[in-house]
Amino acid sequence: MRSGIKKRIAFLATLLFGNQNLVRDFVDNCQDFVTARSIDELARKMNELTGTPDVDAGLLTEEISRYDAAIAAWPALHNDDQLRRIAHARQYRGDRIRTCKFARINDSNAMPLIAIREFILVRKSLGGIETDLESRVLNDSGEVLPGLYAVGEAAGFGGGGIHGLRSLEGTFLGGCIFSGRLAGQSISKG
Ligand SMILES: Cc1cc2nc3c(=O)[nH]c(=O)nc-3n(C[C@H](O)[C@H](O)[C@H](O)COP(=O)(O)OP(=O)(O)OC[C@H]3O[C@@H](n4cnc5c(N)ncnc54)[C@H](O)[C@@H]3O)c2cc1C
Repeated sequence: MRSGIKKRIAFLATLLFGNQNLVRDFVDNCQDFVTARSIDELARKMNELTGTPDVDAGLLTEEISRYDAAIAAWPALHNDDQLRRIAHARQYRGDRIRTCKFARINDSNAMPLIAIREFILVRKSLGGIETDLESRVLNDSGEVLPGLYAVGEAAGFGGGGIHGLRSLEGTFLGGCIFSGRLAGQSISKG
């Protein structure tokens, strides 16, 4: 009972003040996180990480200065799309609690700067290899290709899948597992 209350208090503290431990854990242990105390140092470390000269420190400084200057301007003059979106999200109480208010990037009180290397990945496929109801792959004429099965993302279940246009966040994994089960059953039937 007592540990349940403690967990709730910890959860509320995380909601209100952010998950500092998680950020620290990433900074300490994830090779894709880079920290620095100046924009020049950040750009240099980002380039070192990728082994390319892609990040231009001058351009980065310019962009950050523009963003920071926009925050300092009167709200009616905010014409930065990111600021508009933050302001919009914070109008709704549910989003307000998880969306930080405007914060300058190059702020000596908020150091270090953190850059995160990102990778492109496919999140949802909206199509895939055509199959029948046993997850058997069909050829262009709609005939079964013996011995070949396709399931999950590869068969279009990571997007609409069985839910079609009504698919929502969280409904993809189910279809992927379902199509895998059908393939397994079909294979075991021989
Ligand atoms: C960021 C993110 C968040 C998501 N959130 C949700 C969610 O909240 N709810 C939900 O329902 N769905 C969610 N999805 C979608 C769901 O996770 C995927 O649709 C599902 O995991 C796809 O399963 P899969 O087995 O078809 O493909 P994958 O999980 O992609 O598995 C394919 C596997 O094949 C391996 N592989 C690739 N090539 C080869 C090869 N040549 N030889 C051997 N192995 C190979 C890969 O390494 C991988 O392990 C999310 C997806 C992403 C990316």
